Amino acid sequence: MKYISTRGQAPVLGFEEVLLAGLASDGGLYVPEQLPSFSKEEITSWRGLSYADLAFKVIQPFVAGAIADADLKTMIDDTYKVFRHRAVAPLQQLDSNEWVLELFHGPTLAFKDFALQLLGRLMDHVLAKRGERLVIMGATSGDTGSAAIEGCRHCEHVDIFILHPYQRVSEVQRRQMTTVLADNVHNIALEGNFDDCQQMVKDSFANQAFLKGARLGAVNSINWARIMSQIVYYFAAGLALGAPDREVSFSVPTGNFGDIFAGYLAKQMGLPIQQLVVATNRNDILHRAISSNDMSRQGLVHTLSPSMDIMVSSNFERMLFDIYGRDGAAINDLMQRFRNESVSLDPARWESVRELFDSFCVNDDDTVATIAEVHAETGYLLDPHTAIGVRAARACRRDNHVPMVTLATAHPVKFPDAIIKAELQTPALPEAMADLFERNERYQVLANDLQQVQGYMAATLKI
Ligand SMILES: *Cc1c(COP(=O)(O)O)cnc(C)c1O
Repeated sequence: MKYISTRGQAPVLGFEEVLLAGLASDGGLYVPEQLPSFSKEEITSWRGLSYADLAFKVIQPFVAGAIADADLKTMIDDTYKVFRHRAVAPLQQLDSNEWVLELFHGPTLAFKDFALQLLGRLMDHVLAKRGERLVIMGATSGDTGSAAIEGCRHCEHVDIFILHPYQRVSEVQRRQMTTVLADNVHNIALEGNFDDCQQMVKDSFANQAFLKGARLGAVNSINWARIMSQIVYYFAAGLALGAPDREVSFSVPTGNFGDIFAGYLAKQMGLPIQQLVVATNRNDILHRAISSNDMSRQGLVHTLSPSMDIMVSSNFERMLFDIYGRDGAAINDLMQRFRNESVSLDPARWESVRELFDSFCVNDDDTVATIAEVHAETGYLLDPHTAIGVRAARACRRDNHVPMVTLATAHPVKFPDAIIKAELQTPALPEAMADLFERNERYQVLANDLQQVQGYMAATLKI
């Protein structure tokens, strides 16, 4: 499988390079040159497969030619073995034909584990084969950092540095990162805010002399391999609910548009998806783009669903590339204009987005109300991100005969503020994490200063 950039200028790459690369050199994002597609018969034959076996079927075409089948199989088996539920991604029913897909049974209790657990193994495999090492650097406001660390802690060829804003992440979130004491895991508490952390990572990518030739990589949500891994659970849920003989719809709590873009790909690959609902919090650029063809930046607001507090959703570009007939020049033009001004899509293209997508924006009050309402109806406790998905699903649903599945992106224990506001009891930590507050921590507090951070990294890596 070959990969091309959404802006049409960067070199065509194979899977290995795409796995280790971040942005394409033309500023675009990599996508497969041609998407695999599966016939109805083939999808039908997958009924009853374990999650790991299904993952192999879906992922294999994307890595064909780069990773041997037997190696891929082992990595996938090892990845989903660590999940705490035997079904890996179980469905829970809320109402007639209304479901949530629980994606929080991985090590850090959020859906990012589905991709990052596999990504770490894929990277380590490819690096070993090439005899290379990779230094990963990332900024986190809390959630992605722990999933990335858990994904890389066992890698032999990766060192990972995660920057979080000192004293500005919750204690659970900090401890999920800082209690991982592996030699290749390095937590930096930066004296600044999340934007300072992100800026520090950007500046380090722009100025890599301090690494003396070591390769710098990223695991943010623009990494293609993350999207690829997320396609699987759409097929898993669809098959469980009667696909491919029956349509199914999904509602997805959305930030960077990575997760829902995987759903869009599942549809292109043959899963009969009737409707995809983009559920946003008050940071609603995607809702405005889809409902009123208005792509304009607004200031960032902090909400009760912090993992969706995003001003611009980078993966949206991948879908626009398809919607614009894979015309890299058109996307380049659109994204260049979007740097400086508000844009709207060509009206016919915008209409074609709306054939599949609906969108809805949910504020904090309605998020809390939905947590309380669903708990009263069913006894089931939603995390705030998932609550936004359920609210949006109920508001946008086109057809009650089609099962509607909301992706449950995090375990409610991770976001106690919203649960307390809903006047409900915060759940206990799952057993494997029950001693989180007793574990030893290790992290380095550093000033918001590029030289200090780079000096620390060079000293730690002994280069
Ligand atoms: C990252 C995240 C999201 C948003 O996912 P995207 O792929 O960025 O759209 C939603 N909910 C939770 C809990 C997350 O961690």
